[in-house]
Amino acid sequence: MLVCVCVSVFVCLSVLQNPWGSVNPAAPACSLADVMILACFKLKENIFFYYTTSDLMLAQILQMQFDREFDDQLRREEKKFNGDSKVSISFENYRMVHPYEDSDSSEDEVDWQDTRHDPYRAEKPQTTPRKGFTGKGKNITTKHDEVNCGRKNTARMDNFAPEVHVGDGLGMDLKLSNQVFNSLKQHCYSEQRRSAKLHEKKEHSTAEQAVDPRTRLLMYKMVNAGVLENINGCISTGKESVVFHADGGSLEEQPVPDEVVLKVFKTTLNEFKNRDRYIKDDYRFNDRFSKLNPRKVIRLWAEKEMHNLARMKKAEIPCPDVVVLKKHILVMSFIGKDHVPAPKIKDAMLGSEDMKNAYYQVLHMMQQLYRECNLVHADLSEYNMLWHEGKVWLIDVSQSVEPTHPHGLEFLFRDCRNISTFFQKKGVSEAMSVYDLFNTVTGLQIPVGAENEAEFMAEIVALEKRNEDHVQKRRKKVFPFASEDSGPPLEPDADD
Ligand code: ADP
Ligand code: MG
Repeated sequence: MLVCVCVSVFVCLSVLQNPWGSVNPAAPACSLADVMILACFKLKENIFFYYTTSDLMLAQILQMQFDREFDDQLRREEKKFNGDSKVSISFENYRMVHPYEDSDSSEDEVDWQDTRHDPYRAEKPQTTPRKGFTGKGKNITTKHDEVNCGRKNTARMDNFAPEVHVGDGLGMDLKLSNQVFNSLKQHCYSEQRRSAKLHEKKEHSTAEQAVDPRTRLLMYKMVNAGVLENINGCISTGKESVVFHADGGSLEEQPVPDEVVLKVFKTTLNEFKNRDRYIKDDYRFNDRFSKLNPRKVIRLWAEKEMHNLARMKKAEIPCPDVVVLKKHILVMSFIGKDHVPAPKIKDAMLGSEDMKNAYYQVLHMMQQLYRECNLVHADLSEYNMLWHEGKVWLIDVSQSVEPTHPHGLEFLFRDCRNISTFFQKKGVSEAMSVYDLFNTVTGLQIPVGAENEAEFMAEIVALEKRNEDHVQKRRKKVFPFASEDSGPPLEPDADD
């Protein structure tokens, strides 16, 4: 048979040596006479032709060529898959041509030696029969025989966990005394327990951070896109979100601050279920809420926080600047300096003057929120106010609603209670009662007289109800967007 095979120069040269390196000494040697190289080198194209009459040789050449082409394709796919990503995945394990071929290290060849007759291989330890000894008379060896026991102990090291490196002992005629073996065994057990604990902790912390693979990918993508330089670490893990610190990168449209935070809204839904009412009754979102699957609802929370922050920024309330929103990850400016977040006001250890100052700032901000932003924070407390550069900064506004929300005024009342209680406890004598604070913020004049909370609340609920009825009737909100004249924004309508 005379066949013409076209292969690359490299392959042919290897073929002349032995295409399988030292792997296959058993293959029948291919005499040079079998291979008649034709003088048709086409070096420019790296191609030449030759004739061979050996079927085995042909098969090997073809297989080799096939394997190489497969590997080349794999490399291309690997390149395409990884792109410019900083984190790449190797396809090395799927290669056909064994990596040893690319290396001329003589060490690799050792791997291919037949180890069936390894001169260093240990003698199999003798097993002692049931009677407890072997041999006769003077030559009796009991199961306590030192040499035998030593060998058995060495063999038992094979049962240690795979991550325990037992070295070359298994391959030699090593005899471990019982004492040494027992302490080794003890050490392995305690190591295993320690590593299991560590692993558990790691798993737990990942779970806590609730950063699922999809979210991680989104975060990496932001780094790859250059929006972020680096994601540094977690500042806080709450029930609904995880907050990370990151170094800002750049965006085409706008500058990115040097330090930013990523607020990742958790995609585990359970916690959000309890908070549905903040969003499904918010007319800005309720239309979309009903159409979305629960996972996408999480994105609405992030979006809601972004819109609320934008309103606050417009009113010049100190709060984080929104940098970018990607699905359920909101990137905003970092309140703090040099990786150290500003303390929550409850932890800020303010002197009495600063505390009084802070109180007036908060009072002013609550009014601005209500009147200028048409918002009620709905989770305002000493936990969601940071103290930075002598100012109170408001954060965490994903749940904030407009006062026209069916429970908006109740949320506001709760905010007022948190604020009054906190500042009164901190000794700010100017801090108003919850009722006065509510009236001051809203401009309403709900009678405070008896200071009976139930009565006050009943008034609030009645107002909400009237508004709701009105909305139903007119399909229109009566709470006006806070007017310039600071008159009470919520006045019972004449025709109610
Ligand atoms: P949660 O809904 O989990 O309470 P927050 O928005 O309140 O989410 O953020 C949790 C914590 O993360 C905050 O108490 C604060 O310490 C920190 N944090 C959030 N946003 C920022 C920010 N922009 N700058 C600095 N720290 C922040
Ligand atoms: Mg919070």
